[in-house]
Amino acid sequence: MTEKREKIYEGKAKIIYATDNPDLIIQFFKDDATAFNAQKKGVIVNKGVINNAISSKIFSYLEDGGIHTHFVKKLSDREMLAKRLEIIPVEVVVRNVSAGSLSGRMGIDEGIELPLPVLEFYYKSDELGDPMINESHIKAFNLAKEGEMDKIRDVAMDVNKRLKSFFVQRGITLVDFKIEFGRHRGEVLLGDEITPDACRLWDAVTRDKMDKDRFRRDLGGVEDAYLKVYERVCGVKG
Ligand code: UDP
Repeated sequence: MTEKREKIYEGKAKIIYATDNPDLIIQFFKDDATAFNAQKKGVIVNKGVINNAISSKIFSYLEDGGIHTHFVKKLSDREMLAKRLEIIPVEVVVRNVSAGSLSGRMGIDEGIELPLPVLEFYYKSDELGDPMINESHIKAFNLAKEGEMDKIRDVAMDVNKRLKSFFVQRGITLVDFKIEFGRHRGEVLLGDEITPDACRLWDAVTRDKMDKDRFRRDLGGVEDAYLKVYERVCGVKG
């Protein structure tokens, strides 16, 4: 049994605890929700429980597909045991359909299928509002080594392929998502979470939004949408 120790870090949606094993941490999923770099704050009731279940299911699915992640196991409703990472300060976004900041940047409507997945990088800095960067910034500012970026690019594309088919089978279109990577004993692992907080998920038939855009844009039905994703991903009635 791994013992929970002191709090190491509290983020917007999760708390990270040390354990008696220096290689392992516990991620605790909160109900707190933020948007627009924490200018908008709120609570999505039971989000922590739902996101822990969704993330655990998706990470074990990816592990089964040969992707190396920080996931060890789900410990309780809100807690996940994971490998301790030194987080690479680059947010990796993969897009299949236009939405959000891509629509703004390129001046196109939301909902246009892209001819190939678009890969973007953002510098992970709350202070700066996560500005978009490219691989030459990553290299010049030594955010990640070249070999690490080769891996990150490959894994991001592989995750996209696997997640797209995972969601299609559940009647959901994977519009875009954000992932993070970290170093663990010299290896680059997929970390953080994969949840409706960090993905755009649309119902494949109705195109209804089933993700944090409902909170960001005050669309209502936030809890219901998260619960629906949970039911489809985990195959159980919430
Ligand atoms: N995203 C995220 N955290 C961020 C910014 C974006 O998880 O700090 C996710 C977001 O949920 C979406 C994808 O990354 O699935 C692309 O987001 P976008 O660049 O369109 O930004 P937004 O419109 O959310 O500001």
